[in-house]
Parts: sequence; structure tokens; C-alpha cells
Amino acid sequence: MIEDKNPQRTSLSELGEFGLIEHLTKDFKITRKSTVKGVGDDAAVLDFKNRKTVVTNDLLVEGVHFDLAYVPLKHLGYKAVIVNLSDIYAMNATATQITVSIAVSNRFPLEALEELYGGIALACELYDVDMIGGDTTSSNKGLFISVTAIGEAKNEDLVYRNGAKSNDLLVVSGDLGGAYMGLQVLEREKEVFKVNSNNQPDLSMYTYIIERQLKPEARKDIPVLLKELGVKPTSMIDISDGLSSEILHLCKQSGVGCNLYEDKIPLDPQVISASEEFDINSTMVALSGGEDYELLFTIAQSDYPKIKGNPHLTVIGHMTPENEGMHLITRANTKIPLKARGWNALKEE
Ligand SMILES: [Mg+2]
Repeated sequence: MIEDKNPQRTSLSELGEFGLIEHLTKDFKITRKSTVKGVGDDAAVLDFKNRKTVVTNDLLVEGVHFDLAYVPLKHLGYKAVIVNLSDIYAMNATATQITVSIAVSNRFPLEALEELYGGIALACELYDVDMIGGDTTSSNKGLFISVTAIGEAKNEDLVYRNGAKSNDLLVVSGDLGGAYMGLQVLEREKEVFKVNSNNQPDLSMYTYIIERQLKPEARKDIPVLLKELGVKPTSMIDISDGLSSEILHLCKQSGVGCNLYEDKIPLDPQVISASEEFDINSTMVALSGGEDYELLFTIAQSDYPKIKGNPHLTVIGHMTPENEGMHLITRANTKIPLKARGWNALKEE
């Protein structure tokens, strides 16, 4: 599907490691006040004054987390940053810097890494984070990308997974299941392409879900919105593995149970139509699909009037005493135990 539109191939060995790092990082600009020193010394120097520092890291492995048959390198670079920023926002913090390390085999020319770093640079620009360092090394097989994201918050603003109380409302941003259904479409087209490489698929009816898979966005806006509304979540997590597994993390760490209402789960019409086409239950997609990078959080009931009717936020359930357990209340009004299955479970069905 992805044609090689750039026939120019400059071997990485022509630049050497230091030349490569310099070449790939020369266009990154430093904009954050907290960045005292970025790329170019033995280590970066940051200054957060009296604020707390938040740090997270994700490693993406070719063949495990992404498939270069349908993931353009620019998108991959973008997504590698986004998945990390999402974890910073899930702490109710502001993302400020990233470091990027890659291991590549010599089958990648310089032009491919320029694409990858183009996506990283775009994410840095749009999310206002500085790229302050990292490493490049060779790999015998495949591409590895490790991104560390750094953020800051006032101590009193930080939100952990363990603060949910019984009767708190369970709230999610955006809509769910799009990334998983986008992946199903891309996997299907990859199989079609293997059989007939002249086939140019019409993917226009799947644009939203494909974008959710290939170019996800992190919810930088939600901590800002909540602050404007005067709401501090009692617990929060980002949705990387699927709604049910994230709910279970909040419940376990907070020592509460939960009732999740199936009919409240926000689904985009493209998720519903693609689920029908692939004969998958759309609720299962939201529960186990993952990679939506929306924020899931709990708020005190007294804060409900502040978020009521907000188009970015949906109340999908409420927390209960721990001994009541974790349940999904179906559309048919039956109560079934909520299990964390992750997205592998969907493939086994
Ligand atoms: Mg997370």
C-alpha cells in the first residue's frame, strides 16, 4: 500500500552516528522555559522550579507494536510521541520535553529516518514539547523506538489512579474503539494488497477510524478544560489497552467497584458501521480494543453540574463499594462481570 515515493537512498553509514544525530535533530527548536540545555551536551538540563516532574517511557518494537507494511514512518514517529504524551496528560500534568532513542537496521536509508523524525518534529510542534536528547544505534533486525516524555505539574494538581471513591462518576473523553476498527481495516487491506498489488483500496468510508489508528492524538486539552471547569478528577488514566482494563486499574488501585453502562459508551458512527461489517460487537471493541488515547477519570458527584452537557466528556458509569465488584450493565439491563481482556482477546473470539 505504501509506495516508495522517495527513491533516493542515502546509506546511514555515510553519516556515522554523530553526523546522523546532528542531521536528524538540527531542525528541532527549544521553546520551553524549563529546558535549560537540550541536545548537544552529555546530558540535558531542566529546571522545573517548585513543580513536580512527571516522567514516562514507551518502547515500540517493529512487528510487535507496528507493521511498516501500512504504517508510514512519519505517522509512526508522530504516534511514538503521542502515546507518551498521553501518559503525562493522564497525570493531569503538562508535557514539556521528550527524548527519542532508535535502533535501526541498515535496510533503512537516511531518507526513511528523516520521515520518522519529521513525524516526531510535528508532534513536538503541535504539542509544544522540546526534543532534548536520545540515542541512535544499530539493530540486527527491525526498528525500535523508545520515547521518554517529561512533564510538570503543581503537586496539588497531580491526579493518580488511586483516588476514586464509591459514588464517584466515571467519565471518558472523546469516543472509543476507533483505533481498533481502523487496524482491522488496515489489516484487511494488507491481505488484499498481498494478492493484488495493483488494487487501490477505497478507504474513504473509514477515514476517521484509520486516522484514529495511524495518527492518534493525545488529550492535551482535557486537563486544561477540567481546570477551566473547576473540576479536579479523583483518579485518572489514559486508554491505551481498552476501557475495561483501564477501569480495572482504577478500581484496583482505588479500592472501589464500578458499574459501567453499555448504552453510555461513546462510539463514533464509523465504529458502529465497521463493527457490523466485521461482525464484531462494538461494545467489545470499546472495552478491549485499546489505543484510543482518550482519558478516563472519576469525579465527585458534586462536580457533575460542571461537566454536564460538555461535548468532550461522557459519564459512562459510577464507582461502587469494593465488595460490589466491577460490572457492565448491558442494554438489556443485565449485570455482567467486567473483565480485563485486552485486545488479544478480540482476536481469539
Ligand atoms: Mg497510561
